[in-house]
Amino acid sequence: MSCNLLAHEEVTEGKVPTTPTISSIIAGIQVQEAVKFVHGMPTLSGRGFIFEGLHHTSYRVEYTENPDCMSHYTLPEIIALPESSNDLTLHQLWQRAVKDLASNQIVIEFSRDVIHKLTCPACNQEQELFAAVGSVSYEDGRCPADGNMRVVQAIHSYDGSQSFGSRKLTQLGLPRFDIFTARSADREIGYLLNGDAGLVLGPLAKEGA
Ligand SMILES: [Zn+2]
Repeated sequence: MSCNLLAHEEVTEGKVPTTPTISSIIAGIQVQEAVKFVHGMPTLSGRGFIFEGLHHTSYRVEYTENPDCMSHYTLPEIIALPESSNDLTLHQLWQRAVKDLASNQIVIEFSRDVIHKLTCPACNQEQELFAAVGSVSYEDGRCPADGNMRVVQAIHSYDGSQSFGSRKLTQLGLPRFDIFTARSADREIGYLLNGDAGLVLGPLAKEGA
């Protein structure tokens, strides 16, 4: 993995600051949609809204679903675990999946890539990070000893053998109340760390229970 997994400075990425007027208008429309949703009124769900400020034309667009698009893939089975992500190590979750899927060939996939290590190609010094991709700046990618840009080693899964299996799920750089997908050769299960619900959802957690 190369260093382009690190977050570049915004301007070098070609980003242009948004004008506050337009973002206020769009934010207002978003809030209105949320209020409509809360009151059970029809919303833009499944559709888009184009706001074209140059000539003041705005219109709705319909999105159609491509049944083959993997972005719409849903897990056939999700198990809500009573534990929080501070209660389980990655290996303990893997052992649970070994039992549930009745196989030793289990891979636990993360919801996103995690930066495991930064390695300096010049002095070979390694730094363990466990941080979400995008949360480490480009400048922080440099070796503190000699200033060389370090190589990013990213991980997105665990097969039961790697040393980071002894880490708690909170020590992987992944969010709380996350879903881990366990896969065997022919089946898959999503595990939701439901013990985190109160921490993430606050009073809403009780309503969902
Ligand atoms: Zn170095």
